[in-house]
Amino acid sequence: MILERLANDVVIGDGGVVFELERRGYVSAGPFTPVVVVEHPEALRQLQVDFARAGAEVLQAYTYYAHEEKLKVSDMGGAVSAINAVATQIAKEVADEYNCIVAGNICNTWVYEPGDPTSHKETRRQFDTQIEHQLPHGADFFIAETLQYLGEAEIALRAIHDAGAPAMITLGLAYGDRTADDVGLEEAAKRLEDAGAEIIGLNCFRDPSHMLPLLGRMREAASCHIAAQPVAFRCTDERPYFQAQQWQDGPAFPLSLDPFYLTRAEMADYALRAREMGIRFIGSCCGSAPHHVRAMAEALGRTTPNTKFSPRLDLHPIMGDESHRRERDQRILDEQRGEDIDWRSP
Ligand SMILES: [Zn+2]
Repeated sequence: MILERLANDVVIGDGGVVFELERRGYVSAGPFTPVVVVEHPEALRQLQVDFARAGAEVLQAYTYYAHEEKLKVSDMGGAVSAINAVATQIAKEVADEYNCIVAGNICNTWVYEPGDPTSHKETRRQFDTQIEHQLPHGADFFIAETLQYLGEAEIALRAIHDAGAPAMITLGLAYGDRTADDVGLEEAAKRLEDAGAEIIGLNCFRDPSHMLPLLGRMREAASCHIAAQPVAFRCTDERPYFQAQQWQDGPAFPLSLDPFYLTRAEMADYALRAREMGIRFIGSCCGSAPHHVRAMAEALGRTTPNTKFSPRLDLHPIMGDESHRRERDQRILDEQRGEDIDWRSP
């Protein structure tokens, strides 16, 4: 289904579930584990409804860090199967209501070590477990994301394909334009495409202006679909990663990122630039909230379920357009005159 949609038009992804649920009080900054899935499924469901109503066409199962290695940090190591299954079910329920597609989700395991074959087996085992518990609940394809090692990305791709699903593999580049196992961007793109990845790209770490140039290079190097999932936090040339931003002499990540939020207009502009570059999957990552996604969708010409509530500043009493302001001023004048007349009458 995802491939059919991509063949027809650009596809709009969802936003940053982890950071938005953290802000709302359902994810603990630090472990960032998805225990909300089983403890407050209604909170997750509402956010996915919000993203769907904002125009997202793909809802990811919230299974980021739903692998054993991370869940044991939150004493939830025994909940791997439940969290992966329930998260996919929630995404599927909302997706069915809003004509969206469900993406299963796997991510960096923190287990993978380039030179250690035992760690490769363990990485594969953790991916297989997650996929096994997501696939039966409605995942149409899988997004493997925030992968810093190409080697780990290749294991993820094989695990997804062995399960019979299409794969979107997005690297999380934390070291300039090379993977953590020191493979150049173009070569990484080529190797993923040659291994059969249907969609490749980048996610997290960078804002749109520091991600799009790299995606342009991937676009040149490979001919499969390209995906963009940048953060909605402002980065600079000196600090191209949102995790590196400083606020009041300390690290802004992860608790003081508020001053770095990109505006919805900036995210809308990103969506247009991405489409112009031939990027087909236009999504977003940490910091991106429903208002960003709606602005992106509308910039791309879509009408969303929540477009009814989109800004109408022309109707604002002070900021409104000239004709509305004139109308209002005339009304006030008329009322004052009326009052004058009333006042003079006996
Ligand atoms: Zn992110």
